Amino acid sequence: MADLVLENLTIKYGEVTAVENLNIHVASGEFLTLLGPSGCGKSTSLFAVAGLNHATSGIIRVGDKVLFDGHPRNTVPPERRNIGLVFQSYALWPHKTVADNLAFPLILRKMGKSQRDERIREALGLVEMLPYADRFPFELSGGQQQRVALARALVYRPPLLLLDEPLSNLDAKLRERARVWLRELQERLNVTTIYVTHDQAEALAVSDRIAVMSMGRMRQLGSPRDIYERPADSFVADFIGSSNFLDGRMIESGTDQARVRLADGTELVTPPGRAGADGALVVAIRPERIEVVRELGPNGLRASVMQKVYLGSVWQYVVRSGEMEFRIQTTWEIDDPTVTLRFPPEHCAVFAEKFAGA
Ligand code: ADP
Repeated sequence: MADLVLENLTIKYGEVTAVENLNIHVASGEFLTLLGPSGCGKSTSLFAVAGLNHATSGIIRVGDKVLFDGHPRNTVPPERRNIGLVFQSYALWPHKTVADNLAFPLILRKMGKSQRDERIREALGLVEMLPYADRFPFELSGGQQQRVALARALVYRPPLLLLDEPLSNLDAKLRERARVWLRELQERLNVTTIYVTHDQAEALAVSDRIAVMSMGRMRQLGSPRDIYERPADSFVADFIGSSNFLDGRMIESGTDQARVRLADGTELVTPPGRAGADGALVVAIRPERIEVVRELGPNGLRASVMQKVYLGSVWQYVVRSGEMEFRIQTTWEIDDPTVTLRFPPEHCAVFAEKFAGA
């Protein structure tokens, strides 16, 4: 297995900068996800690693092999990169059987028949598709085709596996099962993996680390927990899960904590943060982190319940304090027209500006 280094990777299509100064070190055996909304540059980055598009500048290295050194002429062609790639569409050859689909990359590598057969058996065994070796792709379900595509990417034992939205054509239930299964297989093989998705729940579920991207730039790189609990900016706080963004002003900004005043006059202690030039700021907090309490205390306020929605496992409410409206969430039902709330300081984040769209 090998690590992957992307250093100042920039990819332009004419005037459009699709990816700008991407810096990521993926450790050997790590499962790293590129996550972001459609058009943020995830696939462009992945395809540059595979050699299917041209990077403009920067460095791409896998193990001790430099695949791109910033000079377009020195780029290693895709067939010599030895990287496994699975596309969203699976891209199986329709007129070849499952076994022949897997044989093809081995024939390209000039492997003899008996070794080929052994590798094909091994790869189909890994994805539990051995009984289907002689079927054609159209005789398989979507989930089975996806497994065959994965087996084809693994059959030559690449040190690096690239997955471009591999589960997005499966229905929701199958998708959830497939991601658990995929992660188990990846851990067993210990193959360094880059996974592309726009689905934040999927990214949180499968990844060692997540690189959150927007408009060609990486906004944050961290473990699923880091990204969810300590979003680096209001884009990440909004894109991963959902957050309330409450207008406020800085009263006192210290190194360990800050004191802010919300638009309704409530004073909050929060972790340190940065306000805008005029002292204005937003406090981000997730609906499920706001506590419903009996007594009004520090970091607390009283709010009127404006709207109540039953979502099965939880209730969600829109509540109002002064001019300020925001959402809270509980696992039990609130009947009262008013609620007393507490904003735990550790779950508040202070940003200079509200997220203004991807
Ligand atoms: P994602 O995978 O995150 O949805 P992409 O990597 O496909 O995003 O695209 C990133 C940006 O690059 C988008 O603005 C897209 O329009 C642009 N782009 C992608 N491929 C091309 C291309 N072949 N020519 C011109 N622009 C492209």
